Amino acid sequence: MKAIIVGAGVAGLSTYLQLRKVLPSQDSLTIHIYESHRPQGLTPSITPDTSLSKQGDLTDTTAVVGNSIALVPSSIRLLRYIDTRLYDIFKVRGYRNESYTFKTARGHRIAVTSTGDKACPQEYTVSCPRYGLWECLRQVVGNDKIQYRKVVDVDLSGEKPVVKFADGGEEDADLVIGADGVRSVVKKGLFGEDDKRQYAPRYEGFCGVGSFIDVDIPEAITRHKSIVFTFGPTGSFGYCSAAPESQRKLGWWSNWGTPDIPDSNIVNSEEIRRQLRERHGTWKDPVIQYIIENMTTDRVYPIWTTPDLPHWGQRGAVLLGDAAHTLPATSGQGAGQALEDSVTFSLLLSHFLAKVETAGGDLTLKEAIELSSKGLYEIHQQHHF
Ligand SMILES: Cc1cc2nc3c(=O)[nH]c(=O)nc-3n(C[C@H](O)[C@H](O)[C@H](O)COP(=O)(O)OP(=O)(O)OC[C@H]3O[C@@H](n4cnc5c(N)ncnc54)[C@H](O)[C@@H]3O)c2cc1C
Repeated sequence: MKAIIVGAGVAGLSTYLQLRKVLPSQDSLTIHIYESHRPQGLTPSITPDTSLSKQGDLTDTTAVVGNSIALVPSSIRLLRYIDTRLYDIFKVRGYRNESYTFKTARGHRIAVTSTGDKACPQEYTVSCPRYGLWECLRQVVGNDKIQYRKVVDVDLSGEKPVVKFADGGEEDADLVIGADGVRSVVKKGLFGEDDKRQYAPRYEGFCGVGSFIDVDIPEAITRHKSIVFTFGPTGSFGYCSAAPESQRKLGWWSNWGTPDIPDSNIVNSEEIRRQLRERHGTWKDPVIQYIIENMTTDRVYPIWTTPDLPHWGQRGAVLLGDAAHTLPATSGQGAGQALEDSVTFSLLLSHFLAKVETAGGDLTLKEAIELSSKGLYEIHQQHHF
């Protein structure tokens, strides 16, 4: 079987690892991964390849939108299930949060709740830079497995799906995995013109900003090993440690409601500071005030989601991760859901492919792929909605 994975983000790379782990007949399995953004350097100066994507686009790619990410215990458990190396390098890269602290803008602490999960008591929520998880995945997959070609179209009208590239090339495969995020080209291939209307990404009426500051981690975090969330009438503000205890990397973010999508997501840092003062300047937490006065960032990200789709795959193409179901960035669940998709889809495909390969098996390859996409969608509908 030949598979093409479009997008080397969380969903694409974890699916690669999982397919390599569970599919039968690895010798006859070919997997190509195509990614539109080439990382230009290693942490912390990772920047997108501007020749492939204009920086000013309101894109949500991992290479462009920085900020912190937190993986909850069930997602950490999935990392271990997918590949123990992934689990090991991610855990030492992040900060082990034992609790969430919730506060009001007036400085009152509302609650401190444990991040622990009865199903995996030894695990806690781990926070790190968003690109940190991505880099861990790239390390385990191997950078040489990723080819930098932007996909512009997926034609599903023929015998096999055909992927078309910005450089004019084309390639067919038995299976095309759309792991290409909120603005998925594979989704457009599946839903055609509808993607412009009914199934197009939706602006949620919220925007966010955030970045990192190299500073001693405040006691508000270290006391309870906490991620701190503060809510007020003008928005929310959060901060966490985004590196192991021995390091000084404070991650922060601010979200606010606005009916208008910004014209550009590149904004002058001083203008962002002015807006932060306007929204949070009277909030009582001194850590928030310190961050506002010392932060630098020039990027605002509008928060997009995808509407419910009637299916996640047909005619040899399947959508995983944000391409299928973008959650608001504020939910802190999107990467975990992408990992769940990778594991679930790969296990289903492995199950149905075994039926194709069994002597006298009654399924064709096409049917096995179709049943796997359908199964993923049905499981998700039952458990998540
Ligand atoms: C600011 C912010 C904070 C977040 N915090 C959390 C959190 O705390 N916890 C959590 O679980 N989730 C969080 N999320 C959500 C999480 O980052 C996403 O859900 C997750 O990255 C989805 O992974 P994905 O692989 O599906 O999509 P992406 O990460 O978007 O990856 C898609 C990949 O496809 C590539 N691509 C796109 N189009 C093409 C094309 N045409 N051709 C080739 N390649 C293409 C992109 O460059 C990208 O590398 C956050 C999101 C944001 C924006």
